[in-house]
Amino acid sequence: MALTQIAPEPARPPRRLSVLGATGSIGCSTLDLVGRSRGALQVEALTAHRNVTELAAKARGCGAALAVIADASLYRELKRELDGSGVAVAAGQSGLEEAALRPAEVVLAGIVGAAGLAPTMAAARRGATVALANKECLVCAGDLLLEEVKRGGGTLLPVDSEHSAIFQVFDFEQPEAVERIILTCSGGPFRNLPEDAMRQVSPAQARAHPTWEMGAKISVDSATLMNKGLELIEAYHLFPVEERQIDIVIHPQSVVHSMVEYVDGSMLAQLGTPDMRTPIAYALAWPRRMAAPGARLDLVKVGQLTFEAPDHARFPALGLARDALRQGGAAPIVLNAANEIAVHAFLAGRIGFLQIARVVEQALTDRPLSPPHQLDDVLAIDAAGRAAARAAIDRL
Ligand code: NDP
Repeated sequence: MALTQIAPEPARPPRRLSVLGATGSIGCSTLDLVGRSRGALQVEALTAHRNVTELAAKARGCGAALAVIADASLYRELKRELDGSGVAVAAGQSGLEEAALRPAEVVLAGIVGAAGLAPTMAAARRGATVALANKECLVCAGDLLLEEVKRGGGTLLPVDSEHSAIFQVFDFEQPEAVERIILTCSGGPFRNLPEDAMRQVSPAQARAHPTWEMGAKISVDSATLMNKGLELIEAYHLFPVEERQIDIVIHPQSVVHSMVEYVDGSMLAQLGTPDMRTPIAYALAWPRRMAAPGARLDLVKVGQLTFEAPDHARFPALGLARDALRQGGAAPIVLNAANEIAVHAFLAGRIGFLQIARVVEQALTDRPLSPPHQLDDVLAIDAAGRAAARAAIDRL
């Protein structure tokens, strides 16, 4: 067939997008893709926590309709910065929810921590396509969030590179043919460090991830391997598999982003260079694909791909997360809340690196809490988990 006989695709209307956490690492990568999309992606709302200057610059730059600052005390400052720009301004929790409720087809959930839960739930409730980077949402409220997505008639798409990889090779038509899913894990900056030396590591060392450039909290989570523990719980909610079917393997090159093994022994994987713009682009364009600028994978240059088992003794966070998943109910919420407090304390120089997992463990052994039935229960358990972690830090 001559090329001229192929009818050109009808032009598609631009896809409207709101970015929760627009000033973070995921938010910036997302807006980079918007800038390259030649108008195919248009921004409705952007949010940040306290970074007024960058939020205002980004809102002006991409012509957002609304900019929201979560810290309500900074409302006037943001208003001043955006004076005359035509960008509407809002603040606080209600502002975050307003951003999620704006009529954008896609809401990129890129806030870090449980702070992103309420706006993400709001986006799901109104039937948006939620492109989820904020894994803590699924850890704290997996069942509730999935129920909201179902009720709202929208879609939940993973942005985390591992889950994007699994999503791309998982046969949802025959989930019974899946034997296991295998999450790959770089091993973080301390993969080969003896335990004694791990005791001494500084926040700067923990933040220096060998293969990915990310925000502070997820970088520390990657160093303790709690990130992989959170991803284990995330995978359990996203894919129709049992906990025992999810394995974790260390893969220092971060080239194989994860794998699915089938009953016939076939293993399917998604590969690429470590650049979050690739999985973000996949979620933004789904079910189609859009161009993303990440470096192309040169397997000859990479030469070798290696895999090893995780060391549970030096990285107890992995076991804590698996236990919390098995236990269910309030346990994953407490795990996440205590981890957020412990990572914050480590970054502030109040506790040592190895004490992060210890704090989480102690918070988990506090009095058992009833399982959550609604968002308010999740928030109450989250608050109790944070209090237990603060008490554990004081005891240390
Ligand atoms: P960053 O710390 O770089 O950015 C966090 C964003 O959330 C910022 O916009 C920040 O605003 C905002 N924010 C922080 N606290 C609050 C709050 N209390 N209320 C409202 N907004 C808040 O994080 P990342 O971009 O690295 O990570 C975001 C999420 O994506 C995390 O859940 C992480 O686990 C996940 N993820 C990240 C990856 C990465 O490569 N970075 C990869 C896979 C998943 P401000 O700038 O004003 O503080």
